[in-house]
Amino acid sequence: MINERYREDREHQRLGSLTVYCGPTHSGKTKKLEAEAERAQRQGRRMQRLAAPPDANQLTDQLDPATELVTVDDAQLYDDRLVDVLNDLATVHRVDVVVAGWELDYTGRPAGPMPELMCAADVALKLDDGVCAQPGCRNLASRTQRFFAVNGTPERFLPVCRRHHTAEPRSQAFQEVWFDEPSGSLDLISGCMFSGKTQELIRRLDQARYAGSTIQAFKPALDDRYAIAAVASHREIRFPAIAVPDVAALAEQVQDDTRVIGIDEAQFFGQEIVALAEELANRGRHVIVAGLDLDFLARPFGPMPLLAAYADRLTKLQASCQYPGCGSHQASRTQRLLDGVPAPADGPLVVIGGAAIHQARCRHDHRIGGPARSEPEPVPVAEESADL
Ligand SMILES: [Zn+2]
Ligand SMILES: [Zn+2]
Repeated sequence: MINERYREDREHQRLGSLTVYCGPTHSGKTKKLEAEAERAQRQGRRMQRLAAPPDANQLTDQLDPATELVTVDDAQLYDDRLVDVLNDLATVHRVDVVVAGWELDYTGRPAGPMPELMCAADVALKLDDGVCAQPGCRNLASRTQRFFAVNGTPERFLPVCRRHHTAEPRSQAFQEVWFDEPSGSLDLISGCMFSGKTQELIRRLDQARYAGSTIQAFKPALDDRYAIAAVASHREIRFPAIAVPDVAALAEQVQDDTRVIGIDEAQFFGQEIVALAEELANRGRHVIVAGLDLDFLARPFGPMPLLAAYADRLTKLQASCQYPGCGSHQASRTQRLLDGVPAPADGPLVVIGGAAIHQARCRHDHRIGGPARSEPEPVPVAEESADL
């Protein structure tokens, strides 16, 4: 069953999406944005670069109704309202929106609306320059380092790894010899339900296990869906895990010789998980975190925006939309259904359950409850294909 609106949108090839490119300086964000703009122009699509007004709401005023693709560069300069404005452009106006910006400023602090945009996006790519600018360092560059102007050399910004980043601008480039110290990392795997986050976490933990690393995996104790002492995906792939009630309990359980730490369902932990993950990564641990980046109302979920900003690597996974007849492979929202209809906004944030009450949906088929619109029968999902 394909509804009328969909047929129309398909015909006009205007589906509307939000893509975010982020990463440190020199990582190629603006190049990616320009490439998308050029491709749209080659395809004869109406493209608009929106200049940065001080107020995000003024973006929509600049919009030409015929525009099919909008680019916004330096998104970190806006205030938080940018998230709602761009979601509206993508969902209501059905414009493809491409955004580039710094998710961390050069002091290493989350920048403007970027962390939330990374959660709200259908596609979020954290770009990197490959390696840190410190000679001899082979770590991934995920931070921007500021250098003062010295002796006629102008002020500079260079990409560095987390080990070689300092919040204070440095006057001399790279005098310190630091690279004997072990370097850790923070990887984030995010996405909606049924996007395969836990499977990807387990795959990476398995890789580390085959390589002989010492591993510990954790999950919040409130999730008792399938196993008490394992991280388990909807496909029933398991990895032994310690269920902990809170972040303090997790921190206590980490052993001195553990090299790799996996954390599943991170959205259910408090904001303290962000500081702990950073501390563990800065002390040489490889931390791999998985979690839902949006709640059932498509709002950024708990600590996930900050984890996305601080992560050295971000893997944002998509699912297939389970709305009948949609067929989009870019589902980024989690739909909650109560008795077969979209759950109302005043429902509890945390309801533990699998396919019975939650579905993966694209942004256009995500609904927030109310009797306004009737819901067709959900597509039955076989256990094996539930987690794509
Ligand atoms: Zn480095
Ligand atoms: Zn859909």
